[in-house]
Amino acid sequence: MKSYNRVLLKLSGEALAGDKKTGFDEATCIEVAKQVKKLVDDGIEVAIVIGGGNFWRGRSSETIDRTKADQIGMLATVMNCIYVSDIFRYVGMETKIFTPFQCGSMTELFSKDNAVESLKKKQVIFLAGGTGHPYFSTDTATALRAIELETDVILMARAVDGVYDSDPKANPNAKKYDTVSYQVLLDKKLAIMDLTATVMCMENKKSLLVFSLNEENSIVNNVKGNCTGTVVTV
Ligand code: UDP
Repeated sequence: MKSYNRVLLKLSGEALAGDKKTGFDEATCIEVAKQVKKLVDDGIEVAIVIGGGNFWRGRSSETIDRTKADQIGMLATVMNCIYVSDIFRYVGMETKIFTPFQCGSMTELFSKDNAVESLKKKQVIFLAGGTGHPYFSTDTATALRAIELETDVILMARAVDGVYDSDPKANPNAKKYDTVSYQVLLDKKLAIMDLTATVMCMENKKSLLVFSLNEENSIVNNVKGNCTGTVVTV
């Protein structure tokens, strides 16, 4: 059975909001934490990136400057990480939050060395604040940090249970891929991640698993090699 030593888990902001679609759903976050604890107890190093869509997106405002709107978006991801990190502590894990910009004493400034040191100490690390730059996304931050931290795989836990050949919400006949290549994602414009992130993952040969957060034990199952969604191949 395939397993990994170091993984980067990407959670969308919406996935943490549960049915409410905004803010946090505590039960969902506790369930995620319990699954990650199983991984940590098994000796797997876990880094986490969380989106910000449950609070704000750079595209949320048509009136204010995009750079400012994106700054609010990045801060939303910091709020998410502070919240989820504390839920993880409640469940019994040690955590650390890194940001690419100073947030006073709330987080630590990201560096590869410090992040890897924390992982080696069995701390779950939260990579908050995206890339620190506007016009990027937490998908890009996910690709960037997974490459920098040399994770074995990116785990993308979403509301949808994998990659489809068209939008399953719009097309009831959409077909789910068991495996698909980054090239096909690009050719068919399948927006699992944004283009920048997709190209970075392809160029750096980073494996990706896309699966549903809503299926029981899905994070653990996918890390242990029982893929319930789609494997994106390089
Ligand atoms: N964001 C940014 N730079 C980054 C990461 C995120 O500016 O490196 C901002 C951007 O405004 C984005 C928001 O933070 O809309 C939330 O991030 P997420 O990736 O969840 O946004 P989405 O892709 O859902 O818009």
